Amino acid sequence: MSTEDVNKAVNCSDWKEQIWDIQGGSELSCGERISHVGYDSVCSCFQAVTRASLTARDRVGIQDFVLLDAYTSESAFLDNLRKRFHENLIYTYIGTLLVSVNPYKELDIYSKKQMDTYMGVNFFELPPHIYALADNVFRTMLTEFNNHFILISGESGAGKTEASKKILQFYAVSCPSTKLLNNVRDRLLLSNPVLEAFGNAKTLKNDNSSRFGKYMDIQFDHQGGAVGGHILSYLLEKSRVVHQNHGERNFHIFYQLVEGGEDELLRWLGLQRNCQLYSYLVQGDCAKVSSVNDKSDWRTVQKALSVVDFSENDIEHLFGIIASVLHLGNVKFGADPRGYAILNNNPEMHWLSKGCTDTLANNQYKLRSALESDLFTPFTVDHAVYARDALAKAIYGRTFNWLVNKINESLANKDSSRKTVIGLLDIYGFEVFHVNSFEQFCINYCNEKLQQLFIQLTLKSEQEEYEMEGIEWEPVPYFNNKIICDLVEEKHRGIISVLDEECLRPGEATDLTFLEKMEEKMGGHPHFVTHKLADQKTRKTLERGDFRLLHYAGESLTCLHTFLHTFVYICLVIVSVPSKNSIIKHCFPSTEPDSKKRPETVVTQFKSSLVGLTEILMSKEPWYVRCIKPNEGKQPGRFDDVLVRHQVKYLGLMEHLRVRRAGFAYRRRYEIFLQRYKPLCPDTWPNWKGTAAEGVQRLIKHLGYKPNEYKMGRTKIFIRHPRTLFATEDAFEV
Ligand code: ATP
Ligand code: MG
Repeated sequence: MSTEDVNKAVNCSDWKEQIWDIQGGSELSCGERISHVGYDSVCSCFQAVTRASLTARDRVGIQDFVLLDAYTSESAFLDNLRKRFHENLIYTYIGTLLVSVNPYKELDIYSKKQMDTYMGVNFFELPPHIYALADNVFRTMLTEFNNHFILISGESGAGKTEASKKILQFYAVSCPSTKLLNNVRDRLLLSNPVLEAFGNAKTLKNDNSSRFGKYMDIQFDHQGGAVGGHILSYLLEKSRVVHQNHGERNFHIFYQLVEGGEDELLRWLGLQRNCQLYSYLVQGDCAKVSSVNDKSDWRTVQKALSVVDFSENDIEHLFGIIASVLHLGNVKFGADPRGYAILNNNPEMHWLSKGCTDTLANNQYKLRSALESDLFTPFTVDHAVYARDALAKAIYGRTFNWLVNKINESLANKDSSRKTVIGLLDIYGFEVFHVNSFEQFCINYCNEKLQQLFIQLTLKSEQEEYEMEGIEWEPVPYFNNKIICDLVEEKHRGIISVLDEECLRPGEATDLTFLEKMEEKMGGHPHFVTHKLADQKTRKTLERGDFRLLHYAGESLTCLHTFLHTFVYICLVIVSVPSKNSIIKHCFPSTEPDSKKRPETVVTQFKSSLVGLTEILMSKEPWYVRCIKPNEGKQPGRFDDVLVRHQVKYLGLMEHLRVRRAGFAYRRRYEIFLQRYKPLCPDTWPNWKGTAAEGVQRLIKHLGYKPNEYKMGRTKIFIRHPRTLFATEDAFEV
């Protein structure tokens, strides 16, 4: 590669491959080493590249924030991200944390060739990539035989789901392959389109927005073969089944069925090929989305369902339910002379009995009861509509859970031998709308919990570890959001417990009583404000029935009107009689309802599931992908400084950078370090007789570590930069 070639590469429009070389050059100039074969030519003209790389660095920024001294201010951080974004370099590291900016266009960086490039190569040797992270996690798991998770966070549309799919695809390609393993691999991959069809929808922010949180464990055997998986889902946004804001859609599957379902199937289900006919599909007035092809997605889902082991019977029953929900949405009510709801001759009732709800419709009397009254008191028309929607949401929500369980059965690893796992957490980001409902409250609470986990596993534990190990350390200040988590979840005092109390008093509890109770218990809390509690200036921005939470990521105003409604009909009797539909039978077992036992409220269930998730995560080693949305318009090439700055702030990137920069990238217990590297030193090989710490001391002396490159703690060695370790790894090859 001549100087001219290098310059050409920098200027050339088709720069994708070349930019890697240039980046390699920039690595060279900041003292990194280049060992990958692709860089041989770069090495051979070191001078030329160094010169070119300086301009290249100006242009493309640096690939790891930890490396350069100047990059500690938020503005400098932003500059670097922006520079890279405009060069289509969407990935940047903060140590081992990967920051990803959504390019909103296809980049040619996810080919099989790219995967091969990243497989088995040390993390910092190549330009940042999601594959590098995936590979690093995978190899750490294999060498240390422990469990890991990758937390992918960011706001809606930032690229979380795409990132998790890229990681899964990387494992699918890189793992050892046999017929049996390929089978598991295909199921893991194809569980995605199924869950996306039922759990994703077009929103204003994202044409394929995940409306549920997803945690997926991929289980590996000793050789790194993917042998199984397990999925946990969190808080599906069921309200979408019955209501969509303007410009938004219901879950994809409804449109896929109507647009893509075979004629015969639609006839059997009593559906017509016209979304406009179904009330639940047209509330957002955008049944068609240009970026979504419902017809072809229908075919993909059909194929995926069969690979993921759904029998014909399952599929038939599943779509019976989907169709029934659509029919249910079209059920209309009249009023009797007293103003109570009555079901006129709704043709939908016939189709309801044919589809899922033959459970209810076998016994039309009971369905009528469920919709016209709660069996005891007659409903007004408004109440009946509410009951109808509640029924539709319950049916869809439980069917979704059934679907996840079914996929889990298909992914289950039958072999009981010990395995290690990599968990992928793709969960909704912090959300603030003009009016925030109960669902946003839960989503934002979930984000507080995850931030708390991040603080505990990374910021806090890192600093505590230095202290424990006796390593000199300048503490880095950070905001601990525990106070906000407590505000929401503390026993007997938090918002959830007040809400639970109110749910114990159906008929008596109102928005107002709930608000008053909260004001009583939380008055004076720095993160809780209501109209009554606010100072004069803030009061102007609050309605009487609202409360405002000051989250770590920003303010969120919750409107109580939408909030308590979620619970008004919690006691709706879902009538269950023997059904031909196996899914309904499973979802509404005949033991329900047990009127003596109070069902857990949705929010308490959610709280418990988050506690469960936290436990799962706490037992694993964390890795992070922080996704950033560059603009609100889903446009390529536009980088909105204000929007990105806000995300940098609440994703905790600056804090993470400060902790990383001040600290040590790598640490291992002396025993493990010695075990791994003792063959490199004649004094320690094959058997070291002294203590592990002395062994490590001898080893690193032999390897020539410089004093500023490492520190010896009480039980561990701390290495400042990964390059020191790479050099040690490479010593094996010499
Ligand atoms: P939500 O919280 O709403 O589910 P999300 O963070 O999961 O949002 P994605 O669905 O992953 O967001 O991404 C939104 C869209 O952005 C994708 O449909 C795709 O068009 C684009 N996108 C995201 N990541 C990439 C990428 N790496 N390359 C190209 N396009 C991308
Ligand atoms: Mg998503």
